[in-house]
Order: sequence, then C-alpha cells, then structure tokens
Amino acid sequence: MCVLHRVISALLMVLPGWGLAQRVGEPIPVWQEGQLDIHHINTGQGNATFVVFPEGTTLLIDAGAINSMDWRTNKPRNIPTWPSNERQAGEWIARYIRNVLRFQRIPAIDYAVITHFHDDHMGTPLNVVKRSKGDYTLTGITEVADYVPIHKILDRGWPDYAYPKPMDADSMVVNYRRFLSWQQQHKGLVVERFQAGRADQIVSVKSASTRQKNPFEVRNLMVNGELWTGEGDKIKGLFPGLRSLKPAEYPNENMCSIALQIRYGAFDYFSGADLQGVLQFGAPAWHDVETPIAQVVGPVDVQLVDHHGYPDSQNGSLLSRLQPRVLVLPAWASSHPGRDVLERLFSDQFYKGERDVFATHLLPEAKTTIADLLPHLKSESGHIVIRVEKGGKTYHVLVLDDQSESYKVKAIYGPYSAR
Ligand SMILES: [Zn+2]
Repeated sequence: MCVLHRVISALLMVLPGWGLAQRVGEPIPVWQEGQLDIHHINTGQGNATFVVFPEGTTLLIDAGAINSMDWRTNKPRNIPTWPSNERQAGEWIARYIRNVLRFQRIPAIDYAVITHFHDDHMGTPLNVVKRSKGDYTLTGITEVADYVPIHKILDRGWPDYAYPKPMDADSMVVNYRRFLSWQQQHKGLVVERFQAGRADQIVSVKSASTRQKNPFEVRNLMVNGELWTGEGDKIKGLFPGLRSLKPAEYPNENMCSIALQIRYGAFDYFSGADLQGVLQFGAPAWHDVETPIAQVVGPVDVQLVDHHGYPDSQNGSLLSRLQPRVLVLPAWASSHPGRDVLERLFSDQFYKGERDVFATHLLPEAKTTIADLLPHLKSESGHIVIRVEKGGKTYHVLVLDDQSESYKVKAIYGPYSAR
C-alpha cells in the first residue's frame, strides 16, 4: 500500500462514512482494506470472477472467450463481445481488473483458477489472430495475462492434462499449455494442480500482520470428481474408476469443474462453475455432483449459479442445503437461464425466505421464455459486485453499468446480514 493510500485510509477511519459510501450514478469507490470484493464481470463471453480479499490478495476465477465464428455466435443465441467488438473479452477483463486494482502500484493477479477446459471459462484460439510474443494465441486467460501479470495458475489438469483422457488434440488446451510454459520461462509464472480438500492452496500473499487483521479462507471443495469430506483435508472420489467405463461414458468436462468456497467472518460464497445436478434420461446417478457437494457446503450467503442456469443445474438438494440469499447468474446465451431453473431458484419448496437473483446479461431470446418471471430478477445486465464490509458481517450487491467503462453504480441492494 502506498503512503498516500495509507493516509487516505487513516482519514477514512477517523471520518466514518466520508467518501466510503457507494452512490447510484457514481463510479464504484475503490476497494478499502477490510473489504472483500467479488466482481462478476460481464463480457458476454463466459465467466470471469475477480476477487479482492480483505487484505489485498487477488484471485481471478475463469476468463471466458467463446469462439466468435462458430455455430453459436453471430446468431440470436449469443450476445456479441460486451461492451463492444472493439476489443476481445480477455482485454476487457484485464481493463476491468486494472481499474479495480488502481490502489496497487503495479496491478497483479496473485492467483488465477481455470475451473475447466471450456471456451467460456478459458478462451478459445479458434478464429483469433491476436498472437503473443510467445508462440500462442491471445484469448481468454492467455490474453488477460498479457495485460495484467499473473503469479500463479491453478487448474484441474496440470501437469499432464490427461484426466479423464489426454487433451493433446484439444486446440484450447494446446494453446493454453504453450502459454503456461512461455510464462513460466519468461515471467516466473507458477502452475499447480488444484487439489480438493485443501484450505492452504489459495492463501494470503501479504505480511503476517496484515493477514492476521483480515483472516479469510478459501476451501477447495471439488475437482475431477474428488470431493472434500468436510473433515480435515480428506477427500473422496465420486466417479467410478475409468477402467470400469467405456471412453464414451467418462466423466464430462462440466462435472470435472473446480468448486470452491470463500469465507470471511460470517460471510460465505460458493462457486461451482459448471457443475450439474439434474440427471439426463438414462444417465447414471454419479452424474449428479450437486447433491453430494451440497452436503459439505451447507448454507451460504451468495452463490454463483451453476452452469449458467442451464437446465441440468441447480437441483433441489443443492438449493435446500445452500439456501443462498443472493444468487449471481453468469448468463451469455439464450438458454441461460432455463425457465425451470429460474422457477426452482424462486420456489419456497426448497427453502423459505427471501432471495435476490442478479443476472450478468440476459438475451432478448432468453427473456421471451421467462417474461413472467423477469420482474423477480434484480438485474438483467451489468457487472455484479458483492462488496462485503470489514469483518464479514454485512454486504451489499452493486450492479455496475456495463455499456462502457464508466464502472458507474446502476443500483445498490442491501445491506444484507451475513448468516
Ligand atoms: Zn460454462
């Protein structure tokens, strides 16, 4: 923290309320020590969640950039890159992050987690011409790192990228691995496999005294079907051994997703990427990974909706157990969210009490089929920021303008009490 920032922070402590409050129509105030900020960035191209922990450590979860020329895009099903096609999603994400990190002298991402190897979470090189100095294409996470240095990356495949089968022919993974090795050689990037059960893989990078003043925890819940048991750092496997399966029956990419939980004081946040929990016809029971993970998570304050609210996500067991007060829906296609999913989110059949749902970007086509439920949503588009106040007792949800880079607050919800 620079001297000026220290002085301002000290002044703000003496003058409570002065300059701290967020106001509608004004840019979001810069992060202050003690606050936990969770930014769900809308690029229209998939997930990108940027976290600033209460002592200043930073974490990026995913950096999607979907294939802009494939069957999904330039069609009503998808929205274009947001706020415009002038830049790619990775660059928009990086610019957003740099704005958040203007309290740092040199902005940096301490940790990046790639939850699984799909374009809307890591970026695809297909039909992208932007190249790095290294021998790889700039898209999604590889493009973010070109603008903001990343110190450590955690994913589900390092070092062999072979579960459940080798990914040598996957152009996304091939490009990503080229990026990793170039960044390791030239920028000192550290890469690790995300390990379920641990609460010491994503930790504070600040000094011991700063750390002790603002303790937080990131628990690694699940990856590749390995689930934390809730005791110590023990895990159990949810998937059958590969030897008992034909290759066509192997776990799919979504169910291998990384899931994690962030805790700060009484506040809890759950992020399960593209986990699924609604069985498709004829599928074996182990395809439902939401039911077992719900048992170890328990009630949370805020949940990132699984799999963009696609119809195979957010089953009743998950909702009854998590009972989220706030749900953030990372939407970018006409199928996000499924009508039945939205009905479940709002149903008191699974849990009682109020809940607020915020979408990052609903397409007109998505709105048509859920028109009668739209008035229940708190936002249909915007960057959705969860700002947890010092100590983790209360939080607000801020909806930020996403039409330009104004970072202006469009609406404020809360304060909510962390439970
Ligand atoms: Zn996805």
